Amino acid sequence: MWDEPDGEPARPSPPAAGGPPPDPAEAARVLRSVFGYDTFRGEQREIIEHVIGGGDALVLMPTGGGKSLCYQIPALVRPGVGVVVSPLIALMQDQVDALRALGLRAGFLNSTQGPDERHIVEDAFLAGEIDLLYLAPERLKLEATRRLLDRGRISLFAIDEAHCVAQWGHDFRPDYLELSTLHERWPDVPRIALTATATPATHAEIAQRLKLEDARHFVASFDRPNIQYRIVPKDGPQRQLLDFIRAEHAGDAGIVYCLSRASVEKTAEFLSANGVPAVPYHAGLDNRVRAENQSRFLREDGLVVVATIAFGMGIDKPDVRFVAHLDLPKSVEGYYQETGRAGRDGLPSTAWMAYGLADVVQQRKLIQTSPGDEAHRRRLNQHLDAMLALCETVECRRAGLLAYFGQEAGECGNCDTCLTPPESWDGTVAAQKVLSAVYRLQHERRQRFGAGHIIDILLGKHTPKIDENGHDSLKVFGVGADLRDRDWSAVIRQLVAQGLLDVEPAYNTLGLTPASAEVLRGERKVPLRRDPERAARTRSARTASKTRAAVDLPAGAAPLFERLRAWRAATAKEQGVPAYVIFH
Ligand code: ADP
Ligand code: MG
Ligand code: ZN
Repeated sequence: MWDEPDGEPARPSPPAAGGPPPDPAEAARVLRSVFGYDTFRGEQREIIEHVIGGGDALVLMPTGGGKSLCYQIPALVRPGVGVVVSPLIALMQDQVDALRALGLRAGFLNSTQGPDERHIVEDAFLAGEIDLLYLAPERLKLEATRRLLDRGRISLFAIDEAHCVAQWGHDFRPDYLELSTLHERWPDVPRIALTATATPATHAEIAQRLKLEDARHFVASFDRPNIQYRIVPKDGPQRQLLDFIRAEHAGDAGIVYCLSRASVEKTAEFLSANGVPAVPYHAGLDNRVRAENQSRFLREDGLVVVATIAFGMGIDKPDVRFVAHLDLPKSVEGYYQETGRAGRDGLPSTAWMAYGLADVVQQRKLIQTSPGDEAHRRRLNQHLDAMLALCETVECRRAGLLAYFGQEAGECGNCDTCLTPPESWDGTVAAQKVLSAVYRLQHERRQRFGAGHIIDILLGKHTPKIDENGHDSLKVFGVGADLRDRDWSAVIRQLVAQGLLDVEPAYNTLGLTPASAEVLRGERKVPLRRDPERAARTRSARTASKTRAAVDLPAGAAPLFERLRAWRAATAKEQGVPAYVIFH
């Protein structure tokens, strides 16, 4: 499992048990002689010296920030074997190979190994012949593994991807919960937990679940200034993606995220057919094909991988020039983590997303039909609301992202909203038209329809569906001729995003929510975002008020989301319909 490197490894000889305490000054020497770097990055030095001295640490640092050295160097300097808990079973071999290439001795234990392979690693651990032992969390749970660890000497526990312990997070792994007992069993072994995603709430949850409240917390800035964030209205997403790649990233390596396996396959084919080399990656592919596509992505230049979110955690490819989303992520944490895979080398990169009404509908649907109790669904909706607020904001996207992680920032000048500021406009009347159409269908005709048909009614189109249903006799027929088809689509998208319209999961039909009544009664204004292309032509229609879409849930959401939460919590039941001010 490990190779003795040729010649003397360039690594300090650990003091024997009972020898002098480890020397923090060793850290700089190891950084140079083993890893070949001259200087520490950010807080690496403080973190490393703290752990070498036997302290516990919780490290929040963005992807590419250099978390690995924070436990690798202390593991080398302290006597014993560093035990690294990681959920990335598929990457353990790669990680161990990379360490061996540096002249370190490393091994791993996970479910992919046979007993022979495992015994070799176990013996090496007991003999203290390895520096680092990577363990899958489900291994560490086993009493047999724990007894093995008792018999050897452990220099530290590193808990990588520590957000996996957060129950509401996007990567929850139940086995991580067991890690709370490490401290009881091995009270003298320092623990360092590391993650690249943590809102203030997740941060607190990690500390509590891993019993790291008394540890020293190191929180780096989450800003990734070299990444340009852009979210465009969805309008033929595959074609948009192709145009984006051709115009800005021809020949570059990139990751394209899609929600379903089918759209992963289709998009990869579409790109390949149009001259952009692309391979698919999703959990439904044959293991061999998947591994092959992953390693091609890592090794070849300018390959695009089209993937579900199964792809990417732990993948260290420095020159990913763009990350594109063709579907909306479920949460800001997910979005941040996925986009964070771009530009680890610090060079300019793009996080690009196409987002539209169908995304909101699809995500709300997934939540409504997801297993679990009502509280769970409410939680998922809150995460989605924060993501939607980021999509619909008229303010700096980076500032919104950082606010979500509890960090302050001014306008960045390197996101779409900074570069081409969108306007907010008073969409109250437009909202009343849409909601009135939905109301009249629901209460006068006992019918519900999807967005397309509602728009046709507003535009006064004579489609077969309208004529068959006699919808041209509705009072709202044709009242929306002042806006175009796609403007109405943007209005409806934002109404669903703001919780002013509900989507029925089976048929995608629109329905009113308790909050819709406030709009119809004229008690509530509806600020909307005008998508930039249109803003150029109608600049005079600008309203003074800007919507502040805060995205830090649950710490301090903007009034928009406060209200949204209030009515969700209050009652899910349809209330009697009060005397609306219906648009005539
Ligand atoms: P993270 O786990 O935080 O995403 P890694 O530990 O994988 O990041 O490090 C990202 C990259 O930065 C790696 O290629 C690593 O070798 C490099 N790196 C880390 N620390 C330093 C440093 N002090 N100087 C130069 N490069 C560094
Ligand atoms: Mg890492
Ligand atoms: Zn900005």
